[in-house]
Amino acid sequence: MSAAERPQAAAGDKRPGFPVRLSPNAGVPSATKRIVGSNASNASDAFKPMRPKHAVVGLQKPVPAGVGLDSQTVRSRMVEKLAKQGLQDAAVLAAMGQVERHRFVDTALANQAYEDTSLPIGLGQTISKPNVVARMLELLREGKGKDERLGRVLEIGTGCGYQAAVLSHVASEVYSIERLRGLHDKARDNLRHFRLANVHLLFGDGMEGFAKGAPYAAIIAAAGGEAIPPAWIDQLAVGGRLVAPMQTASGQQALVVIDKMAHGIRQAVLEVVHFVPLKSGTN
Ligand code: SAH
Repeated sequence: MSAAERPQAAAGDKRPGFPVRLSPNAGVPSATKRIVGSNASNASDAFKPMRPKHAVVGLQKPVPAGVGLDSQTVRSRMVEKLAKQGLQDAAVLAAMGQVERHRFVDTALANQAYEDTSLPIGLGQTISKPNVVARMLELLREGKGKDERLGRVLEIGTGCGYQAAVLSHVASEVYSIERLRGLHDKARDNLRHFRLANVHLLFGDGMEGFAKGAPYAAIIAAAGGEAIPPAWIDQLAVGGRLVAPMQTASGQQALVVIDKMAHGIRQAVLEVVHFVPLKSGTN
């Protein structure tokens, strides 16, 4: 069992056993069914599990000596660019500077890993742009001090595991759910190298959330539907924040921030984004 799967025993804390398999159909509230786009499988898309090891250097653009992908310099440059784009949360920038993004993408794409671009990760899915990852984490952490960590965080859409790795540096525990078995396995392989004991990978339909880990201080989704599934709001702690892409009235997708308060929720719709669709069930 890898560090990423290992259950963390903590006194008085109800933790699930790992790996956890969530029932694909159990208890999906009808309101969450409404937001289902298509349940079509992407299984025909080319997908080859890969296990990047050490210096994975891109094939097309040779990287100058001293700034190989294993070098801190390439990540520092990416962080400088993020700061220039207006991202300012020191804890988020430090986390982005620490996680080796090239280890999460296919070898042929590794030379683009530190550019501000989304990249394919197999099964028709993509790893988000660094700018968008940083922006969403900044929103989740709003109001927190530099050395203050978020508590338990639920991530819907593990994908290749990159964002879960970044989250592990700013949160006490990360529960990350993926509905595609191929990507769940890939993320586990990718994360093994990092030995992040506070990241828990789950296979299941994230539209149901993950009740066993609730309440969450923060919930973040990397896939967007037509509405926010009620389970996410239920599983958010009072005082907690949810950041997710969602389709708006104009038909575009935008980032939505929901704060849960003792007597209701407050919702803000922010900038337009382009995330893969949130789908129900597992494949
Ligand atoms: N955070 C990821 C981004 C992955 S893309 C990363 O860093 O790589 C979004 C992911 O959401 C896809 O892998 C997709 O399969 C997944 N997804 C879509 N609907 C889902 C659902 N209902 N439950 C869990 N994962 C879902």
